[in-house]
Order: sequence, then structure tokens, then C-alpha cells
Amino acid sequence: MPLMSLEKPPAQPGQVWAHVGQPFVGREYDLIVLGAGRMGAACALYLRRLAPRRSLLLIEEGGLPNEDGATLLSPGVWSALTVPPERRAEAQWTRAQLAGALAPDPSLNLSFQARPLLELAAAGGAGWEAVLDVLGRDPAPTLPAGLADLQALPWARLDAQAARYRPGALALACAQAAIGAGADLMLNARAHLDGGGVGIERLSVTNTHQIVVHETHRLRAGRVVVALGAAGPGTVEHDLGLHTTHARAYRQFPRLNHPSTEQTPTLRAAGLTLRPQHGGFTLVPAIHHRDPAGYEPGGGRLTGVPTGLRRETLEDLVAAMDALPALATGALELGRSLMDVPGAWFALPGGDPDGLPRHEEVAPGVHLLLGGPHADTLGLAVAYDLAATVAGTQQRPWAGRPG
Ligand code: ADP
Repeated sequence: MPLMSLEKPPAQPGQVWAHVGQPFVGREYDLIVLGAGRMGAACALYLRRLAPRRSLLLIEEGGLPNEDGATLLSPGVWSALTVPPERRAEAQWTRAQLAGALAPDPSLNLSFQARPLLELAAAGGAGWEAVLDVLGRDPAPTLPAGLADLQALPWARLDAQAARYRPGALALACAQAAIGAGADLMLNARAHLDGGGVGIERLSVTNTHQIVVHETHRLRAGRVVVALGAAGPGTVEHDLGLHTTHARAYRQFPRLNHPSTEQTPTLRAAGLTLRPQHGGFTLVPAIHHRDPAGYEPGGGRLTGVPTGLRRETLEDLVAAMDALPALATGALELGRSLMDVPGAWFALPGGDPDGLPRHEEVAPGVHLLLGGPHADTLGLAVAYDLAATVAGTQQRPWAGRPG
């Protein structure tokens, strides 16, 4: 007779508490993951796969995906161009997960598309080619007319392996798959760290649209993963009295209504990434530095006229107008107030705008998981690495593979 304890438990779907009308009786969990952005949701899924015997609760303040989180607005551009060589194998593994290995069920559609990324520059160097050589290749990456001034940007690099996908759909697919594999999920619940456990405030909305705390619970947990995005470092600092080196920055994603098609490559030039989307482009400005504590996002002014874009982003766009003349046309949506321009807070792991996703055990049994600006390319591997660490396994599926 087989030993029951050596068998995998049957994958009973977990329970979901979406609103306060669904009664919740507090219980102890082996594992609690705070935050169901793509980092928390992916970690929850990998934990169910690597440690299926340990009970798991995933808690999210909003819905899935939350409109305020970094995940929904992240560009969803996978490219290994800026990944250091020692992390390339993880980036490749992340790409394979996105391309279908993670969620083979076709209903969990991440809109994954393999599309090249073309980087243009004013000055070349090792790895750069004359732009006309790159644009003359077969198949040629075709750029919409009038978008970029190729005289001002005579050098190019092509990432033929790059891809695009929807990070919000990734968070949803991971959470659904985690529930299918036995994770419990509580939505509309704000969490904080409380001694050796987690405090939860279940939220509801009054008929005057105020968010109020309906009830509170305190749960004990064997281990806690803090995947609260930009709020993660502040939460461990406040709740555990720790100091971290991490920071955050508010990033806006203005729209450029210059025509694009499904086939248009993702473009990087003059410090901006231009992600083809809905027949135009979503602009992804560089993050230059952390935002100071207490910074409140606010609109700037262009020649005295109020805009929804923050000052730093406006300056970047103005500086890029010679190289990207389309930015100087009415195709650029500047907005009139902050509400007009989509934006979100991003964690900056290590306080560095180029900080890669990472995790660390900030107190015994409390793991901080940070995605940040490079989560599109490396986030899943880092979420897996944390799940494997918690599960106590040494193996990593990308180890020994070429990057
Ligand atoms: P990441 O890319 O790291 O997943 P996100 O910002 O998308 O970053 O995800 C963080 C998630 O954590 C968001 O969905 C946000 O709503 C959620 N969150 C933030 N603070 C809390 C909290 N106190 N309790 C529960 N969820 C929270």
C-alpha cells in the first residue's frame, strides 16, 4: 500500500473571499502571501506547486489585478538587452513561463506576442550597428513614418527575442492557477504584519463611496511573504521596526497616438520605451531616481499650461522631441491633471532605478519580495526562487541552462 504521506494531496481548489458578505473564520495558515500583484500571485502559485502540503492564504487590498498597483500599468515588455549576463538564464526561464509553460490552459491568456525590440541611439559602440543595416534586414523591423528621426539616431541594436504581454493578465492567471491548486484568496482586505502573524482589515464600500473597515482578524502564519509592491519596504519598516535600503518612484505612462500595428517593434530611444498598444504607443519614461519620502504625485506645466504629466517626465519628453518628432505633435496626450495620465508607484529594489527584482528574509519567517521596473523580464524567476527557498529545495529550473 502506498504511504499516504508521500503522495501528493489532491488539488482541491482553495476558497475565495471576495467581499465582506462572505463570512471568514480566522484560522492558522502555514504560509500567507500579502499582495496579489504579479509578484505575490506568482509566488503563491509556485508555493502551491513546490510545497503543496502547506496551507496558503493570498491577501489583496483591492481586486484582481488592483487598479492602483504597478502590475496593471507595467509595460509588459520582456527583453534581455539590459539583463546582466549572470541573470540571463533566469530571464530566459521567465520568458518560457510567459510563452506558455506557466499557464498551459488557453483560457489564461496573457496575450503573449514575440515581437522584436529595436533600440536606436545617437552614438554607437560595441554591439551597435548602423541603423540602416538593421532596418534593411529580413524580416525588417518596420517603423511607422514620422516617429523617429533616423539621422539623429543612426545606431541600432535589435533584440529579436523580445516579447510583449499583459502583466495584469499574468497576475490574474497566476492567482487563478494558485486557487485551482489549493490556495485560499481574500480580496478587499488590507493586511499588516502583527507579531508572528498577520492583521487583516476586511474592507467594504459605503453608499457614499467611502472605504470602511468592516471587520478585523488576526491570523497566525508559519511564514509570510510581503509582496506589496512599492508599499512593501514601508510596511516592513513600519510594522517590524526595520530599516531597508529600498525606495519607490511614481512612474507615468503617457499615450502617444502615433499609428502602430500589431507588427510594429517595441522601440527604445532617447531614454524612452515606446510600447505599441491599441493602435498607438504607450510611452514608458526612464526612472532617474527614487522619489523623496512624502512626495505626492502632481502635474507639471508646459509653457505655463497645466499638464497631467509630472515635471520630470515632461522634461524627458521635451528632450526627446528632436530624436522622436512625433512627441512634438498633438499625438502626445499631456492631460490636464494627474487623473488624465495613468501612473503607478514602483518599488526600486536597493533604492536603485535599475535594481533588479529580489527577495530577502527581513525577519525570521518574513520574506520581502520586490518586483520593480525589471519585473517584466525577471519577476517570475525571482518569485519562483523565493517559493523554492521557502519550500526548502535547492534546485532551480534555470540552473545550468544557457542564458
Ligand atoms: P508587484 O509588481 O510587486 O506585484 P504591485 O504594486 O502590482 O507590484 O502589487 C502589489 C499589490 O499589493 C497590489 O495589488 C496592492 O493592491 C497590494 N497591496 C498593497 N498594500 C496592501 C496591503 N496593506 N494589504 C493588502 N494588499 C496590499
